[in-house]
Amino acid sequence: MINNFDQFSIGLTGGIGCGKTTIANLFAEQGASIVDTDIIAHQLTAINGLAIPAICEQFGANFLTTAGAMDRQKMREYVFAHPTEKKRLEAILHPMIKQESFNLAQKSNQNYVIFVVPLLLESNILKPHMSRILVIDCPETLQIQRVMNRNGWSEQQVRAVMQTQVSRETRLAAADDIITNEDEIHTNAQNLKQQVSRLHSAYMVLANANMKK
Ligand code: ATP
Repeated sequence: MINNFDQFSIGLTGGIGCGKTTIANLFAEQGASIVDTDIIAHQLTAINGLAIPAICEQFGANFLTTAGAMDRQKMREYVFAHPTEKKRLEAILHPMIKQESFNLAQKSNQNYVIFVVPLLLESNILKPHMSRILVIDCPETLQIQRVMNRNGWSEQQVRAVMQTQVSRETRLAAADDIITNEDEIHTNAQNLKQQVSRLHSAYMVLANANMKK
């Protein structure tokens, strides 16, 4: 069995730089259990990661660093230019990410779990298992600015990644719940914290009702 389907599961998603990690951290402060699929993907492709043998076999050792991790930069550029190769990499990683996500979720002692999944709506690997979809939203201009500041990227680079993700409208249309992450967290966190706290309480109630079913 890979998943306890009775577990109340929230799929937290949003476009690049919308603030998924920032908001997930606020949920964690409230005591929520977080499973971050980005962290899992990093671990799988780090030195001694579970995905390294298959990556080496299928793509060759030249896609590994000398230390034995996946060369993330090289692989990112390669699959960006070769969509079929991207599918091959995903065929290795996605089942492992799914399995590891469920393994971690089952260790949770909370009554609901938040799965942070950047491409929840694009890939469909975890979406069917989610009880609700929580979208972290902000205006595109803010999204671009944040990623430019954080990654030192050009606007064009950020827009190129955004092109590979569903549109803001599609994401909002798929949402059961939305957190608007527009306010500057360091000077004006109150609104954000309220949105998180309200949803955390609602999820606890829903999860309890789910357990009694
Ligand atoms: P990615 O899709 O790239 O993983 P993400 O959606 O997880 O990104 P974060 O990493 O949480 O987004 O945020 C992107 C950047 O914007 C970070 O540098 C973060 O500190 C900053 N940021 C996010 N939300 C806010 C906010 N409300 N106020 C100030 N800075 C913010």
